[in-house]
Amino acid sequence: MKTAITYENWQPIPHLFKMDEPFKGAYSVLEWAYQVYPEEKIVYASSFGAEGIVLIDLIHQIKPDAHIIFLDTALHFPETYDVIEKIERRFPTLRIEKKKPALTLEQQAEKYGTALWKREPNQCCHVRKVIPLREAIGKKVAWISGLRREQSPSRAHTEFLNKDEKFKNIKICPLIHWTWDEIWAYIKAHELPYNELHDHHYPSIGCFPCTQPVANEGDSRAGRWSGSSKTECGLHTS
Ligand code: SF4
Repeated sequence: MKTAITYENWQPIPHLFKMDEPFKGAYSVLEWAYQVYPEEKIVYASSFGAEGIVLIDLIHQIKPDAHIIFLDTALHFPETYDVIEKIERRFPTLRIEKKKPALTLEQQAEKYGTALWKREPNQCCHVRKVIPLREAIGKKVAWISGLRREQSPSRAHTEFLNKDEKFKNIKICPLIHWTWDEIWAYIKAHELPYNELHDHHYPSIGCFPCTQPVANEGDSRAGRWSGSSKTECGLHTS
């Protein structure tokens, strides 16, 4: 077995992966990851957006019983829960875990007031996303994410392997070189289920109070927390 890279023994290793075609390195990265990390030490945290669907299909080819976590904030669109059900039917061997926050929406409202996402979205994301992910990956060595470099300036320097200071972990990003068009070409070519909101000008889909349709789909993150300075939920910021 090849040596696993961990947070503790981290060192950037250039040229570790082949730029396999047509996957732009994604298959090679995933194959390596599921070889070097024991299955209880690696997880894919998916939002079941378009990138997530591609990753799920690739992961399933390599590790049919892979562990996938969905952060179920209880504030997702019905279409998001629909696509998860479709994925569960299409890939029944995958182990899809819906991780809920410690606080229900009612308990959150009692503690912080109603509609926390309007007043303090960072606090809301912390309670409903960051803490649950920390709990979910606390005993893992590595987690997989669907970040792509073209999504935003803050993601432009993402590597296949990243030392994740926030979760003291290795963050694996197989899709960094993929374009939005390539994501969709893959989904269509493999006739994969996808979130129907993508057909209605929602390129990036999160919780319904914080996700709007966009006029220009070239800016894939524009519909998230629109009208505020917030651009990330906090999972990918230090
Ligand atoms: Fe709360 Fe919005 Fe963050 Fe969802 S995306 S956890 S509703 S602030």
